[in-house]
Amino acid sequence: MKRKDYITWDEYFMGIATLSAERSKDNNTQVGACIVNDEHKIVSVGYNGMPTGCDDDDMPWEREGDSVLDTKYPFVCHAELNAILNSSASSLNGCTLYVTLFPCNECAKAIIQSGIKRVVYYSNKYDGTDSVTASAMLFDKCGVKAEQYEPTGKKIELDM
Ligand SMILES: [Zn+2]
Repeated sequence: MKRKDYITWDEYFMGIATLSAERSKDNNTQVGACIVNDEHKIVSVGYNGMPTGCDDDDMPWEREGDSVLDTKYPFVCHAELNAILNSSASSLNGCTLYVTLFPCNECAKAIIQSGIKRVVYYSNKYDGTDSVTASAMLFDKCGVKAEQYEPTGKKIELDM
């Protein structure tokens, strides 16, 4: 008889998105993403971080400052965009994106343009903001299915 407490595909891919978020240097927001094709193969992962070549220690990580240039916002590359750009697959057409936070409108555009057709998100803590509302509108109009991950209550502990 086969083992019974193996993790589901959804737990597996959301688990990898969650683990990827642990790589983030951002004190306030850690987001992870995992892109999967229709054969249940992972084609890319990403987390929020500064662009390649920027020294993390030289960049601002603050949310507020005298100028927007003193904050992280103009610089940080979001998890979804990193996952899309990190992919070595020739196409993301028809793929599913697992992400720990509902995508912002900038990432929504990249998701749509890359051909990703389904987004499974864990949290939607910015629900009601203009950015999230715009994302939802774009997904709806462009035929991208966005669905919230249903927590299973399973706990996974890793000894590292
Ligand atoms: Zn984003």
